[in-house]
Amino acid sequence: MKHLLVRPQFVSHFSCIGGECEDSCCYGWNIHIDKQSYKKTLAHSELKELAKTALKKVKKSDGVWAQAVLGDNGACGFLDANNLCQIHAKAGESLLSDTCKTYPRMAHMRGGDRYESLSLSCPEAARHILFKDDAFRLERLTINHHRSFKATPLWAQKAYDYSIQLLLKPEQPLEHGLTAIGILMKTADKVAAGELDSSALDNMFQQLLTLSDNGQLKQHFDGFNQDTDIHQMHAFTSIQLWLNTNKVRRGRSRFEQINQAICALADDKQNISMASINQAWKESALPALLGHPQLFSRYLCYYLYHMQFPQVDALSPSEAFRVMLLDLFMLRCYLAVIAASKQGLSEHDIIMCFQVYHTNRQHKANYSQYVTEILAQAKFDELAAILTLLSKAN
Ligand code: SF4
Repeated sequence: MKHLLVRPQFVSHFSCIGGECEDSCCYGWNIHIDKQSYKKTLAHSELKELAKTALKKVKKSDGVWAQAVLGDNGACGFLDANNLCQIHAKAGESLLSDTCKTYPRMAHMRGGDRYESLSLSCPEAARHILFKDDAFRLERLTINHHRSFKATPLWAQKAYDYSIQLLLKPEQPLEHGLTAIGILMKTADKVAAGELDSSALDNMFQQLLTLSDNGQLKQHFDGFNQDTDIHQMHAFTSIQLWLNTNKVRRGRSRFEQINQAICALADDKQNISMASINQAWKESALPALLGHPQLFSRYLCYYLYHMQFPQVDALSPSEAFRVMLLDLFMLRCYLAVIAASKQGLSEHDIIMCFQVYHTNRQHKANYSQYVTEILAQAKFDELAAILTLLSKAN
């Protein structure tokens, strides 16, 4: 049966930079080795001796047959002194385990169609997604397979398509596009629950375009602009503390740079306030980001595509929207504190903030459920409240 394969240019142009990588994926996490790769590595004349100490059999499943043994510095035992993989060097890509062969490449299936992407936990992937020209140009190919997949509900397809259009509407500030998406998701909640027909999304989308054109979206957004520093601080510290528990070894020193930059904003009594983070955002981060006006719209474009928004985990459309805004808010805080500590932001710093946050986020089980609970505790469970996370963003 014919299906579609969608591949953004950030995927087709990606290639691992190996020893040049600032946070190699060959460090500090459980690299699983499938049964076939394990056996072939042990049978390889130039690798078998090393494999006896660099691999540990765990036999959890055919896909998780062994695990790479990490050295004291967290490095995979197959790395040489130049940080190059000896399996790749001596036996070629074909002998790499499935994990090593595919990371950071990922794909989502929707109704039999394949959507390819990259994980932002790879710094080079982040560089392509956030900075490279034409990263979001899509290649559409035809593929054949006979596997069956659940059809994507019409409401989800519409909610996704309209969200992308609202986000990218020309001449519209990002926060107004996000306000429109938040309103659209309230309708999507009702359509997903069967309370409204999917045509309600078409009607709401048209209304939102009109509201954007006549300036009422701006009025909506400005009306949400309340002072919520205490609640913002509660959300930020709760998430940051949680990310600090059972940290993954990979990228720990980069994560510590963020922690130290947060602590550097503390006052004489060692208190860190949202006012100081917001001040760092305005005085240090915003001027440094003037040269990257597309940064957040690129990130959100990637986010909607990569997460298959709004069908994220088991969340309702409005919950998925709130988690997206929280992710954006956390990244804004990271950029603010790093900009304050370094008196500016290089491309390298920006990549670090996005990559470190997403590496830690992806290693936390049930992240979206936890965040949804935190947002409810911090009183960010309504659209008017969650949009205030953006209120000090400009
Ligand atoms: S994190 Fe990305 S660029 Fe770095 S070593 Fe892994 S795949 Fe290569």
